[in-house]
Amino acid sequence: TALHANVKKLSEPAKYLLPNVDVFIFDCDGVIWRGDSVIEGIPETLAKLRSLGKKMFFVTNNSTKSRKGYKQKFDSLGLDVPAEEIFSSSFAAAAYFEQTKFKDTGKKVYVVGEVGIQEELDMIGVPHFGGPQDAGKQPDMGPGCAVSHDPDVGAVVVGFDRHINYYKIQYAQLCINENPGCEFIATNLDAVTHLTDAQEWAGNGSMVGAIKGCTGKEPTVVGKPGPLMIDYLCDKLNLDRDRICMVGDRLDTDILFGNDNGLKSLLVLSGVTSEEKLLSEKNTITPDFYADSIVDFFMDENA
Ligand code: PLP
Ligand code: CA
Repeated sequence: TALHANVKKLSEPAKYLLPNVDVFIFDCDGVIWRGDSVIEGIPETLAKLRSLGKKMFFVTNNSTKSRKGYKQKFDSLGLDVPAEEIFSSSFAAAAYFEQTKFKDTGKKVYVVGEVGIQEELDMIGVPHFGGPQDAGKQPDMGPGCAVSHDPDVGAVVVGFDRHINYYKIQYAQLCINENPGCEFIATNLDAVTHLTDAQEWAGNGSMVGAIKGCTGKEPTVVGKPGPLMIDYLCDKLNLDRDRICMVGDRLDTDILFGNDNGLKSLLVLSGVTSEEKLLSEKNTITPDFYADSIVDFFMDENA
């Protein structure tokens, strides 16, 4: 296969990154952990970056947990990370509603997704229903039957949902198609994910695809590569984008997030993207740098 000429594997990346980067944004799955195991060398790498005074944030597209749920995950993996550094696409949905002052409309949110989205909406006091409560529901489809829906639903949030069913799809369809101005929010569009090491699993792209298919509408994407989470961080903390490096394992979420939003981008091969895929002529998304794992960068004695 032909190779991209413009993708650089830096020979001494830490020598470039440490003087030029103040803030590291780490994707989680494939960078910090793989499923439920922390990637070897990560605790030491994070400790080293902290000791050098680097700021860091952890940004995951997985909406199944809230920030609080991820704090517990970091704790259980023995990673001492303050809650304020953790961001998830479930939180991004709530941040979007805060930004647009959704609460002032007096409307409700219908959730296709799991507990992470519900917990984040509870934190901001936005009324919601659906989610796990609609697991296992089956609409009555006999002659003349109809699903009745709440005309006060002003937004549908679609996140990864292992209990998605026809009832939820129909409910979301009715809200989006029939409630005037009803928004369609996707936490993320990841096509496949790595629920287990054994294979790739259908990701939230499949749940969003179901709702796109019956509404013909495009969702607002609040997770990576959408700008919401980086805008939120830069606004809150007054960060200089030029000195932020996005570190991730996916091209169409993490690296695009970095590239589209004025950050430096570093692809690591510890997750879903192979070197072959990165360098293939078919790939159009190129990071500024790449490496086997972030551990390689900062464990170097001479860095
Ligand atoms: N969505 C789901 C359901 C996942 O399981 C994962 C990874 O495990 C992701 C998204 C991607 O997460 P991240 O952005 O941390 O790589
Ligand atoms: Ca990832």
